Amino acid sequence: MVLRDVRGDFPILDRCIGDAPIVYLDSAATSLTPTPVIDAVTRFYTHYNANVHRAVHQLSEEATEAFEGTRIALARLLGADEDEIVFVRGATEGVNLVRSCLPGIRHVVTTIMEHHSNFLPWAYRDETRVVGVTPDGLLDMAELDSVLQGGFDSGLVAVTHVSNAIGTINPIGTIIRKAHDAGALVLIDAAQSVPHMPVDVKALDVDMLVISAHKMLGPGGVGVLYIKKKLLGELTPWHLGGNIVDQVHRDHFTLQPGPARIEAGTPAIEAVIGWGAAIDYLAALGLENVQQHEHALVEYALSRLADIRNVHIVGPTDATVRGVGVLFYIDGLEAHSVARLLSNQSSVLVRSGYHCAQPLHEALDVLPTVRASFYVYNTTQDIDELAKGLEAIVSLL
Ligand code: PMP
Repeated sequence: MVLRDVRGDFPILDRCIGDAPIVYLDSAATSLTPTPVIDAVTRFYTHYNANVHRAVHQLSEEATEAFEGTRIALARLLGADEDEIVFVRGATEGVNLVRSCLPGIRHVVTTIMEHHSNFLPWAYRDETRVVGVTPDGLLDMAELDSVLQGGFDSGLVAVTHVSNAIGTINPIGTIIRKAHDAGALVLIDAAQSVPHMPVDVKALDVDMLVISAHKMLGPGGVGVLYIKKKLLGELTPWHLGGNIVDQVHRDHFTLQPGPARIEAGTPAIEAVIGWGAAIDYLAALGLENVQQHEHALVEYALSRLADIRNVHIVGPTDATVRGVGVLFYIDGLEAHSVARLLSNQSSVLVRSGYHCAQPLHEALDVLPTVRASFYVYNTTQDIDELAKGLEAIVSLL
């Protein structure tokens, strides 16, 4: 075991459905919350509940310090500078912020394996090219090369690091280099990578990157857009209101420098503070250890499910290029039925449907699928429970 047993830190794992404790295999949608994060949010409400950045009284200063502490922790986690960390509501809002406020982007390259949150904002523009996947679920790098050929000035490559559906871990170092060589900027959707593996924005030289707290043991309602300082200065203000301004006069206003120029209004203070506790928790576990732990789970799940009659795994079968978990379908059974049966009969909680990746399902020519996704609290026993549940289901076919 590369990870210590963390299950006792997650009180929700004591929940049962009927008599059986839950087996939570839906962390790619939302992760569970450890006690230190719950405690940090409770401490905020019980000890120093106040607005940030505005007042100079004791409670507001404490709230501001804790809030800004998370920005520092995020900068350290990502290898960024503090003033490159912009708080948003989540990965989705981060992408939309770039779409709405970064001037001068004319051409966009995205991929068919994107989550809808990094697909819809780009896909329907005239100048957008959508790179496909190979039959085994890898990004078609030859197609990317041909799209970028001849240069891509005023362009943006918006690509996911790890597919939330088929789990493909894209070679983003190579993609970023190719995009930069062609003259394009790069936006990485890291919603499924930063929670699970070390990611260093400076080493990668990525221009922009988005994440969500609720996928990395933190509270809901907050995320980050990492953006290089020079580009942050180019963003046009999105929402106008309190916090973003330095001076406001009847006929003009001036903006604050740094992330504040984008962060209008009162933020989700308690969520940001709770996220700080989540980052400390993950850092203490070690993201290399988290990655190894999950790699072992993915490898185990791929081999365990491959043996079950009528179960078809979708996406890469090589666990070295696959994160998240396993995606599959069962011949003759609709995905939602499988998920409902697993929940009702085995207390195994999985996700079913298109997983906000319908174009990918269409490209791979598969109907809605079932996804079992893993995180720090999952074990091989959880996968055994999933396999047992599936065996019971297919035995009825
Ligand atoms: N991108 C990916 C790869 C995701 O998995 C998700 C969430 N499923 C998102 C973007 C959107 O995240 P959020 O809903 O937190 O904005």
